Amino acid sequence: MFEIEKLIRENIKALKPYSSARDEFKEFTANMVFLDANENPFENGVNRYPDPQQIAVKTALSKLKEIPLSQILLGNGSDEVLDLIYRAFCEPKTDNVITLPPTYGMYKVLANINNVEEREVLLTDKFQPNVKEILNVADRYSKILFLCSPNNPTGNSFSNESVEILLKSFPGLVVIDEAYIDFSSEISWLQRLDEFPNLIITQTLSKAYGMAGIRLGICYASLEIIAVLNKIKPPYNVNELTQQRALRRILTKNKVQKEVDKILEQREKLIQKLKSVAFVEEIYPTDANFILIKVDDASKRYEQLLNKGIVIRNRTTQPLCENTLRLTVGTTSENIKLIKALNEL
Ligand SMILES: *Cc1c(COP(=O)(O)O)cnc(C)c1O
Repeated sequence: MFEIEKLIRENIKALKPYSSARDEFKEFTANMVFLDANENPFENGVNRYPDPQQIAVKTALSKLKEIPLSQILLGNGSDEVLDLIYRAFCEPKTDNVITLPPTYGMYKVLANINNVEEREVLLTDKFQPNVKEILNVADRYSKILFLCSPNNPTGNSFSNESVEILLKSFPGLVVIDEAYIDFSSEISWLQRLDEFPNLIITQTLSKAYGMAGIRLGICYASLEIIAVLNKIKPPYNVNELTQQRALRRILTKNKVQKEVDKILEQREKLIQKLKSVAFVEEIYPTDANFILIKVDDASKRYEQLLNKGIVIRNRTTQPLCENTLRLTVGTTSENIKLIKALNEL
């Protein structure tokens, strides 16, 4: 039996959260006079503190994803959401988390910041989770397993079968980072959130939604997990401008889908063109808005492209990624420039 209470840090269980002016008074009506939060009373659009519970944004997301409001938490980017998860569940110097390199670098950075041991279990040569080894390495202090699917920087999705075994057998929380889910041919694990009390899914407006600049990360989990995270989040962690822009974007989902469709179309074209570049040795399958390729000499090719004004990501120092480059799919004209430059080398 999974019990969330056993995973929460003692100090967090005992914590009495800060109660902001906006927490204590919520029944807004038009003609009320607000003299409770020491704000400047002169209206300029942002003179008031933002809604600490971001109800408008969450309501839109709740309708879109068919997940109750009480199972959604928003953060200042997914990076804040991930940090909150560490702080709620991982006792520094005692607990550990498991990551599966090559993967997103923030899981490790956050482990170091929070002084939490990070155990690494390499992906297989097909870039899939090594289920047996993960369960081997896990112990009763293993609080979080990070599964990034589609994975950055490899681009592939993890097999549903492996993820399901891990969800059922891992003793702690399983975070599935779905930053790239809107580009994927696989469906989101959100559909199955209610089946797994230890499942946390993170998504973001930074990639498919085209809003990296506003910083909005989304966390979906059980009511109990969301309640713990809510207790420790900074009261006004998502600012007013972000809430406004995010709401507008979420409500124009068709525009987002059109851009995603274009990016996917461009991704296929890029893959075709990359096949005829002489020094490209391998193009890895991708479910994301980027392509990982293996070349003859990644550092050399990276420098050469930089000299032509094109910035890509050299991933050669990552495990299993020797001589690989990660290419983000750009606009049609950007991709043409990239292919032209590659062919000139
Ligand atoms: C880009 C990315 C994110 C996004 O983080 P934000 O803080 O929401 O911008 C999260 N996870 C992965 C794996 C990413 O590649």
